[in-house]
Amino acid sequence: MSTKQAQLAMVIDSSMCIDCKGCMASCKIANDSPEGQWRNWVKHSVPDFTARFPKIHFQPGGCMHCDNPTCVQACPTGATYKDKKDGTVHIDSSLCIGCGNCIPACPYDARFRNILTKKADKCNFCAERREQGLMPACVDTCPTKARVFGDINDPESEASRLLAKNADRLVRVVNAKTDTKPNMIYLGETAPLNWPVEAKMPTAMVALTSVVNPLVRTVVGLSGIGVAVMLVRQLIAGSGSEDDVHDESGTDSQNKGGDA
Ligand code: SF4
Ligand code: SF4
Ligand code: SF4
Repeated sequence: MSTKQAQLAMVIDSSMCIDCKGCMASCKIANDSPEGQWRNWVKHSVPDFTARFPKIHFQPGGCMHCDNPTCVQACPTGATYKDKKDGTVHIDSSLCIGCGNCIPACPYDARFRNILTKKADKCNFCAERREQGLMPACVDTCPTKARVFGDINDPESEASRLLAKNADRLVRVVNAKTDTKPNMIYLGETAPLNWPVEAKMPTAMVALTSVVNPLVRTVVGLSGIGVAVMLVRQLIAGSGSEDDVHDESGTDSQNKGGDA
């Protein structure tokens, strides 16, 4: 029995994409995405208009079901997880509290807060369709077969065969500072390449510091005031009556304490 787990992935020949947006439309219908919110996309390069024949390159994409998903690391409740059986990254909406930590933690901007459910949302490689033995909607719809889906750990899958045939021309679009090991793999030249951002992880320590630091400053400040008051008391005690000292220092200390 093979112990190698499956890794579902999408192998994309972006030179085949004609930007018909059929994949986006079918995804939206299959997953009932709210108006203005999309689980997948088609990016394009900026043509060089000074060239004699300016070329434009279309690059389809979506959640990349990464091997090292920063969205999983950012989720405080475990709602976002990587499925051990097939390597896909999912959101358990019953555990999602809609905090949004996972959204900037994705270098690909693949996540959004669903305006209807108020929870995190993204592509799940059409889990419901796959349960019925169907391909993801975008793969089924693509008229040029630019998107090929399958288990890249199964050497017999079409996706694996495509990878093997193009072993010397595979491209993973990554941010140099946050390589999440994406499982959306492009064949040959693809563009644009520079759009993934550095993952913004929730900074628990920074948040803690922002609370602790003012507290520390306040405490230190109060100690300083206390020392100053003591000095004033001693100075006045040296030159005036005891009653004067008590009245002045008491009032002064109270005001500063109220301001702090
Ligand atoms: S593309 Fe983003 S949302 Fe998808 S698994 Fe990778 S880090 Fe998570
Ligand atoms: S919004 Fe994202 S980080 Fe927050 S609980 Fe939901 S899945 Fe996890
Ligand atoms: S359906 Fe296929 S050809 Fe059309 S935009 Fe999507 S990936 Fe490109």
